[in-house]
Amino acid sequence: MSGQHQRLPLEVDPFRLAAREEHLQGAIPLKQMKRLISALTSDEGDVLIDVVFSVDLNRVVLLSGTIQTDAKLICQRCMGEMDLPVKLDFQIAFARSEAEMERLPEGYEVTLIEDTPMMLSDIIEDEILLALPPVPKHLDEKCSPEAEGWKRQQTIETNTESVKQDNPFDILASLKTDK
Ligand SMILES: [Zn+2]
Repeated sequence: MSGQHQRLPLEVDPFRLAAREEHLQGAIPLKQMKRLISALTSDEGDVLIDVVFSVDLNRVVLLSGTIQTDAKLICQRCMGEMDLPVKLDFQIAFARSEAEMERLPEGYEVTLIEDTPMMLSDIIEDEILLALPPVPKHLDEKCSPEAEGWKRQQTIETNTESVKQDNPFDILASLKTDK
């Protein structure tokens, strides 16, 4: 791990940290994210975060920044392992109660906090889980046609292709290309 990273707190209170615009930069081991690694083929590696707690003009408490990691999953077309670089720009708002949640102006992605402090890794893990493709697949040219299951999967896929739209994996893939 590089020395430029500060030690991240395990637990955070977004409302307190937002009051002093706390900036957190560092690495969380993937091993701490049990729900996430159950969807991955490897728990090795870190999730790099660069995030800021803040209060916006509507007095809404926010966490925003970037999350980056290299996930390894099983391609659902060829059943081979695939690397999925994850790089997310995200912003979430925090509310203390459902009533407060309803009062928030439109356009926020809101997380309800029942207890503070909360685990920093849980917040980050949720964001990554939301971004993972429901059906992970290699880009076409990277799929191994000789792999078991390719022919069979492709037949099934032809029938379901029209239903699948806005696959987050395609978005991630295009982000990667733009970089
Ligand atoms: Zn594949």
